[in-house]
Amino acid sequence: MKRIHNPNKCKTHRSYTVEEVALLYEVHKRTVRNWLIKGLAVCDDKRPLLILGRDLKQFLQKQRQVNKRKCKLSELYCLKCREPRTPDQNTLEFIEETSTKGRVIATCSVCNSRMNKYFKLDSLTSIQRDLAVILPLPQKHIG
Ligand SMILES: [Zn+2]
Repeated sequence: MKRIHNPNKCKTHRSYTVEEVALLYEVHKRTVRNWLIKGLAVCDDKRPLLILGRDLKQFLQKQRQVNKRKCKLSELYCLKCREPRTPDQNTLEFIEETSTKGRVIATCSVCNSRMNKYFKLDSLTSIQRDLAVILPLPQKHIG
């Protein structure tokens, strides 16, 4: 599970060594080096490497955004995986909740948990296009 690090924990006007960042965020030094590989900026090439609080803050804010991934139309958010997942297409089920709102229920293709997604019936056409033919049409109530 990915931990979310608070970008405001570091001071903008300070510079940190890799060790200090590791201590501050209670992570392994290796994790901080990974952040450097992922784009966290350092002051210069001199040793020890110094990381500006400002850069660290910016980097962690960006990471937060990355973690907050949005579901594509064809994906459902899986609570267990904590990520948008493609549903197992054989399990897709459509339920019309109200005249304007519907729900898709499916099983996560990764962990087999039940997933749910609410949407407006207006967007049903595009959802069906995205989830391909497999999504059954909502059953219109007769009468
Ligand atoms: Zn899952």
